[in-house]
Amino acid sequence: MKAENTTKIQFDSLSINEAYARSVVAAFLARYDPTVPQLADLKTAVSEAVTNCIVHAYPDRIGPVTLCVAVYPEREVHITVTDKGVGIPDVPQAMEPLFTTGNPEERSGLGFAVMQSFMDRVKVTSRPGKGTKVVLIKRLSVRAST
Ligand code: ATP
Ligand code: MG
Repeated sequence: MKAENTTKIQFDSLSINEAYARSVVAAFLARYDPTVPQLADLKTAVSEAVTNCIVHAYPDRIGPVTLCVAVYPEREVHITVTDKGVGIPDVPQAMEPLFTTGNPEERSGLGFAVMQSFMDRVKVTSRPGKGTKVVLIKRLSVRAST
């Protein structure tokens, strides 16, 4: 299946760039007229995926984060967030609700659970020492024409 429309940005793993990533997704998808709740779901999921790159992927340096947005036929949106950081040794375990390797006072281990509840599908691939790729998939509902 070929994407109908795509965009791609790269930014540094700084927390100030999390809002930038969310805004890019919203601006790119505006043309597709998503409902307000659907757009909120997408922005929340992107925020969790990007925050993970900022917090976990590069523990002691700033590294690159790539965000791709692709719209496939039937309004299926794929958002891919990729880093070249430390990677995740055990992806199923990392995706379990409440699992965190972060500071328990700051992190609740719910980022992946939030992504899964707001998206139709979440695919995570990771190689320790090489990096992590998170694909967030959601089909936008068809707007009733007025
Ligand atoms: P919260 O999202 O609630 O603040 P959290 O980030 O620890 O807490 P998740 O987002 O569910 O929870 O991530 C679970 C764990 O997966 C993290 O604690 C971390 O060990 C690992 N992880 C997630 N994303 C990455 C990444 N991009 N690179 C390396 N490790 C990651
Ligand atoms: Mg998280």
